[in-house]
Amino acid sequence: MSGEDCFKILDKIFEPKNNQKIEDIKGYTIKYGTIKNGNKIIDEVLVSYFKKPKSYTTENMCEINSHGGNIIVKQILELCLRNGAELAEPGEFTKRAFLNGRIDLVQAESVIDVIHAKSEKEANTGIKQLEGWLSKEIAQIKKEIMDVMVNIEVAIDYPEYDVDDVTISQITDMLNSVEDRLLKLEKSFDSGKIIKEGIKTAIIGKPNVGKSSLLNAILKQERAIVTEYEGTTRDTIEEFVNINGIPLKLVDTAGIRDAKDEVEKIGINKSKEIASEADLVIAIFDSTKELSKEDKEILEIAKNKNTIILLNKIDLQSKIDENNELLKKTTNSIIKISALNHIGIEDLYEEISRMFNLNEINFDNDLIITNVRHKNLISKSIENIKKTKESIQNNMPLDIIAIFIKDILEDLANITGEMVTEDIINEIFAKFCLGK
Ligand code: GDP
Repeated sequence: MSGEDCFKILDKIFEPKNNQKIEDIKGYTIKYGTIKNGNKIIDEVLVSYFKKPKSYTTENMCEINSHGGNIIVKQILELCLRNGAELAEPGEFTKRAFLNGRIDLVQAESVIDVIHAKSEKEANTGIKQLEGWLSKEIAQIKKEIMDVMVNIEVAIDYPEYDVDDVTISQITDMLNSVEDRLLKLEKSFDSGKIIKEGIKTAIIGKPNVGKSSLLNAILKQERAIVTEYEGTTRDTIEEFVNINGIPLKLVDTAGIRDAKDEVEKIGINKSKEIASEADLVIAIFDSTKELSKEDKEILEIAKNKNTIILLNKIDLQSKIDENNELLKKTTNSIIKISALNHIGIEDLYEEISRMFNLNEINFDNDLIITNVRHKNLISKSIENIKKTKESIQNNMPLDIIAIFIKDILEDLANITGEMVTEDIINEIFAKFCLGK
């Protein structure tokens, strides 16, 4: 419970050991006692106390830890509600922390990211944002703008001083520097998106080339963490696989696994469908056979995409190799594997890392943005910087230039939530789970 009355409500249902008075209990302590409905003991519990402003929400807060189990928890919850508490909305605790000024919007959003993280890297990025590194960078950029803004205001207010030229060169320097910093952040979203969403990967190939064998080889990797969820297209299942730090989102692997019947095995049409929405296409061929008409159709699908060709079954006598002209026309990334014997799988991972520059990202030290709302606002402020520069080139008066610069400040303030509208706040917190 959080809020002004939470200890009052607690007092009605909780009996601390030794009958200690609720108001005498210190913040940051845990008390043992019983939850009671009148004279009836519901459970033995531990209650954590947080006195304002030293709590997650900055309000008075308490947390009741019971033995668990649905019945007891439900009874305690109902007791709280009957005595004046209201059920929290999704994300309401974090929303209060934001509205009360303990954290900014970026930090609040990172709480969701940490909760939903599917990989260690994603969780780490979330934690760093929770600690406020993005907020600090935005604050520094804003300060750089504000410092110049002060001079502009002076120049506007006292036109008799001839400060225009100095100011203009100051503004231009500032705009260039700020643009550099924002462009770096904007670019980091490429990596951020990969960390958060994974590289959307389609495994394609005609029946019997070894797609499900490859899938098994990938999923059997000791360190692969698999999370399954519904895909964006109807009836597809997506799996998030995290192999040695490479986050892959496999598209419709269920299609590959479930299609046991030979006739139903995923073929050309299905390949086309799943490849169309992928960031990475892994096209498999059976190296023991010459390329067939169907194989050529697969190559056609894989053309002009980020494609890695796998020549499978190299444990057997091969009829095609990596020098095959048709293959080379599709991509330079051609790897020989044996899915069944787990040969060449590491080479595949290395090729993916190389293709998506995963080795170049310093996940621990680089500033990486992962949130599309932040990315859009950063792009918008870069646009506004361009507009401001144009207005300078067109010799616009200072007060007009000042208006453009204020727009940039506004975009940045929207990121950390200083000026954000209620609608946006509600939208953001609706994504939370209950009780966070
Ligand atoms: P899919 O239809 O593309 O999913 O192909 P499967 O993974 O079901 O494989 C078809 C057949 O090829 C199966 O009998 C596999 O055991 C076999 N196979 C797959 N990979 C290899 C390999 O690397 N070497 C050998 N010798 N057989 C393989």
